[in-house]
Amino acid sequence: MPEPFISLKNVSKHYSVDLDAGVSDINLTIDKGEFVAIVGESGSGKSTLLKLIYGTLAPNSGELSFNGEHIPGPHEKLIPGHDAMKMLSQDFNLNLYARVFENIESMLSNENVLEKKQKSIEFMELLGIGALANKRIVELSGGEQQRVALARAIITEPEVLLLDEPFSQLDAVLKTQFRADLKRLGNELGITIIMVSHDPVDGLTLADQMFILKDGKLVESGEPAQIYNNPEHIYTARLLGNAFFLPSDEAKLVGIRSKATTVMIYPEWVQLKNSWTSKQFAIEEIFFRGFYEDLLLERKGIRIHAVNTSPGMYKKGQKVQVVIEKWLDFD
Ligand code: ADP
Ligand code: MG
Repeated sequence: MPEPFISLKNVSKHYSVDLDAGVSDINLTIDKGEFVAIVGESGSGKSTLLKLIYGTLAPNSGELSFNGEHIPGPHEKLIPGHDAMKMLSQDFNLNLYARVFENIESMLSNENVLEKKQKSIEFMELLGIGALANKRIVELSGGEQQRVALARAIITEPEVLLLDEPFSQLDAVLKTQFRADLKRLGNELGITIIMVSHDPVDGLTLADQMFILKDGKLVESGEPAQIYNNPEHIYTARLLGNAFFLPSDEAKLVGIRSKATTVMIYPEWVQLKNSWTSKQFAIEEIFFRGFYEDLLLERKGIRIHAVNTSPGMYKKGQKVQVVIEKWLDFD
């Protein structure tokens, strides 16, 4: 069998001040060219895991490898961080008073000055910042600065790009744009991207494979649609969607036949319709979300959520017929 591109075997890292904090016994592999998202609550160990992969943090135990070779830790290398990888830092690390092209060019060696110029132009075009080439970083918006930082990170053509919460500084519009940029770059450059985010939407939208971290442990992994639709853990369902949970006795009252202790339901699995299997609920609250409404429904003290894709169709207090078309059992 060929060696996996990136592999972690029984990797643990515990910070001495707090023995519990860190990551425990992580086993995973990442394929070349894959877009991977590491998702979990704040403090679940995402940044720790990313630094271990990059080699800026050493594990207490276990082994990390890249192309079958040991990933050197910070004490095994003069300049910490794997040579084939680049981390896009949250503070961008830009020279604020230098111009955009200078910030980008300075990543390349002076061996071939013409090639250096051409490549800088090429990468500025790739990221849509060609028109900003002569501006100083201080004159740019946060989103523009992030593009410059990304251009700097990828111009040296690393095999792996590591991103720690890359969207945290961006407003909603820029976030959507930047997501699209990343997806395109992953495809066009064939670069392996490992992204950490506390926002599951980032992972669901972008990733080929998601890793879910909880309290420093890898609780599950898989393709986004697979783990969204069939989460093995309640934690994952809560993290990825607006799932709600009903104990078995309540589940019975809303027409669900299940022997499980708890059932999990996503609002989009709740259908509003007239049929002999439907139950009558009252609309307790309507949350407008733009192109849809989140309806809070109540029956005999049981509250559930449903998605209404025709906003304005219902009034608060109105009775509706509900069929729960799908649910998952949890014990
Ligand atoms: P995340 O990125 O998911 O928010 P981190 O990997 O930063 O989580 O942190 C995981 C846990 O390790 C947290 O409890 C955090 O407080 C702790 N931790 C992180 N860095 C250090 C450090 N340098 N020293 C001690 N504890 C740390
Ligand atoms: Mg973090």
